Amino acid sequence: MTQRITVVGGGLGGLATAAIMARAGHTVTILEGNDWVGGKSRRIEIAGQRIDTGPSLVTFPGVWQEVLNRWDELGDGPSAADIAGVTLERLPEVGRYYFRGQQANLPVEEGHEWHEAWQRFEREHGGLGPAITTLLTHDPWDPAILSAGKELLSRYGVRLTTEGYLNGLRWMPQDLRDVIAIHTLNAGVSPNQTLALYATMAAVMAHDGVFVPRGGVYEIAAGLENLARAAGVSIHTGEHVVSVKKNEVTTTQATYTSDYVISAVDGGILEGLMGKKSRPPKKLSCSGVAIFGVLEQELPEEIVTHSVMMPDRPDELFGSLASRNRPHETMAFLNYYRAGEIYPNDRPVAALLLTAPPDGEQCDITDDFVQRESRRFSDLLGLEKSITDMMTDHQILDPEYFAGFGATGGALYGAPAPWWRSGPFHSPAYNSPKNPWLWRVGSSVHPGGGIPAVLGGVLISTRRMLATLDKG
Ligand SMILES: Cc1cc2nc3c(=O)[nH]c(=O)nc-3n(C[C@H](O)[C@H](O)[C@H](O)COP(=O)(O)OP(=O)(O)OC[C@H]3O[C@@H](n4cnc5c(N)ncnc54)[C@H](O)[C@@H]3O)c2cc1C
Repeated sequence: MTQRITVVGGGLGGLATAAIMARAGHTVTILEGNDWVGGKSRRIEIAGQRIDTGPSLVTFPGVWQEVLNRWDELGDGPSAADIAGVTLERLPEVGRYYFRGQQANLPVEEGHEWHEAWQRFEREHGGLGPAITTLLTHDPWDPAILSAGKELLSRYGVRLTTEGYLNGLRWMPQDLRDVIAIHTLNAGVSPNQTLALYATMAAVMAHDGVFVPRGGVYEIAAGLENLARAAGVSIHTGEHVVSVKKNEVTTTQATYTSDYVISAVDGGILEGLMGKKSRPPKKLSCSGVAIFGVLEQELPEEIVTHSVMMPDRPDELFGSLASRNRPHETMAFLNYYRAGEIYPNDRPVAALLLTAPPDGEQCDITDDFVQRESRRFSDLLGLEKSITDMMTDHQILDPEYFAGFGATGGALYGAPAPWWRSGPFHSPAYNSPKNPWLWRVGSSVHPGGGIPAVLGGVLISTRRMLATLDKG
């Protein structure tokens, strides 16, 4: 029977869910508060040049492929790949890392003092990509999970956090351990708050590659929107949802009646929309200050697409973020695209992303923190001028902007769940017997997992939803 479904939130999670549910024959409406779809993934233009904000790299491309496969399985006609029109381009390296006077690519190049240790780490973990993809895309009760889980657990033994696991690798130089551990900031938290799986991910990214769609990461959002529209989804932007009740979603403009509601907003927002009061969270994931700019000239040849600057004392950074103070030194990314590379631009563009505490503050380019860290990064890269001074035009996104997605202080991934309640053991669940009409997807369930966890979670939850609707 065709059901009426309202999806709250048109980020990647909401778009993918809507596309699959509509393709399965249901009548689906997306209600998105912003005037663009894609949520944290957004496209802006600065001085006529394209730059995508939010996610900058696509990892675990098998998950994206699974989304396309699912769409194809649910009907006939043109293929999902053709409709979505996304072409992933592999970067030659995960990135170039700058740490305590050292610099190294991942995978670590031959001749580097970390090379041998990296080779061993990659040998032991690099082949685990398919097992992680299975974990990301299959229901925990699926038999396929058992062998994938066993394969992963056999690496960790009893050391189940990233920090605990890496501390046990005595044969690995401490600095390389720190470089691997800092990847947990991609989930917004320190390495003692994430599953050991995060250590493995660095090796898998090096082994299987990191990707950027031709045209920019926003192509993923645009591709999902194409799939949703092709399946008949009705997409309403600029409609901020103010209340969610059984069978009824109210926005600033109208009330929508439906059989099912799917929440694809950040964790915590839904509770407010349902009229529940919640206490401010004690722990928060990190926020960021991101400066996107058009450069006056190309950077030197040796600067790679994705550079990572580490703080000399990662512990101090984790402490500052936890106490919500600006760190003395932070972890920063520089994403750099030459004219015509990835984007259809005629000038070079760069994004400088500084990890920052979730303080909800505004920040501009003259801010001490921005100036200091831009200078430090530029010195490490061997640039004559600070990268922000090389920007002829720029736009800055700060914790105040990120707070607009609903999380206290602009925490990028809201309040982190304890590490043992993440991944397949996530809380909240996709659905509960108390409210069978209500489902959750995207970062409301998998906040810090990035695009693969959001899309993988969509595959799992929509499979369960469709099975429940079939039974009903
Ligand atoms: C700076 C940054 C860098 C990142 N880098 C990467 C990366 O390189 N690789 C990677 O894989 N992941 C990365 N991520 C994570 C990735 O962007 C997210 O995991 C993903 O975009 C989350 O998608 P989502 O749909 O679950 O949530 P969102 O994108 O947050 O979508 C939720 C949507 O709900 C809407 N909404 C909220 N409240 C309401 C309301 N009341 N009414 C109507 N609509 C509402 C919001 O406007 C938004 O569009 C990054 C994230 C950030 C912020």
